Amino acid sequence: MRLEGKVALITGSSKGIGEAIALAYASQGAHIILNGRNHDDLRRVEKRVLKTGADVLTVPADVSAEDEVQRMMKEAVERFGRIDILVNNAGQMFFGGIEETTSEDLDRALNVNLKSVFLCSQAVLPRMRALSRGRIINISSGGGKNVRTIAGFSYGITKAAIIYLTRRMAHELGKYGITANCIAPGAVDTAMSRSFPAYVLNEFVKDIPLGRLGQPEDVAKVALFLASEDADYVTGEVIDVNGGAYID
Ligand code: NDP
Repeated sequence: MRLEGKVALITGSSKGIGEAIALAYASQGAHIILNGRNHDDLRRVEKRVLKTGADVLTVPADVSAEDEVQRMMKEAVERFGRIDILVNNAGQMFFGGIEETTSEDLDRALNVNLKSVFLCSQAVLPRMRALSRGRIINISSGGGKNVRTIAGFSYGITKAAIIYLTRRMAHELGKYGITANCIAPGAVDTAMSRSFPAYVLNEFVKDIPLGRLGQPEDVAKVALFLASEDADYVTGEVIDVNGGAYID
């Protein structure tokens, strides 16, 4: 078991990529803290995680709200005593170019996709510092690197900033034994990518060298590597999981 006894909090694990990461970690012996806002989705994922034999705590919370993040961390630490792994996965798609984006759109995107990563990471820090170790894994996007994308300008800005935030965390937190890495998925078959018009996805797939959309499990395997001892000396990295759709 690659994560035996580790405590992992995965934000936005009520479906999609977060759900796959939670299941991958649970199957490798981790205790799991699930998060999201939709109670029905969370209950469904909780049942799947419990079937692996893992301990699970489910905390519905909006990760863009500081008080809810604080409550989630408190509940997690009360239950498990510590948090070893934080995966900042929760996120939403925002559409529209620079001309169409209003300042309210931009605020919403920044709060949900970026401030949430900052809030959760800052809240978990004292707990990780106390252990002199920790793993932070942030989910960015190819849309934060490549301007040729259907994703909106405000989405791209947040995902680009997550890459900087990850590098900054790696730089500042290494001295505490905490690593920070980032995954930049390409188009992955989830509710989020299904919000794209079908013809756009079909065209997109034609340009992917590996010839298919990503599956949530493709991202989960890399998130498992980054959480495991195999990645002990890896920090500040951005790993593309995109089938070659965008190579830089
Ligand atoms: P989904 O829409 O399938 O899942 C998003 C998850 O985030 C859900 O669990 C949702 O929970 C949660 N979430 C959204 N907003 C909040 C919030 N404010 N507070 C708490 N939880 C929240 O998307 P994916 O699984 O596809 O995306 C996961 C991550 O991967 C995102 O950061 C996304 O940007 C990134 N990504 C996805 C790609 C793709 O093609 N799918 C490509 C590149 C990156 P609930 O609905 O219960 O609130």
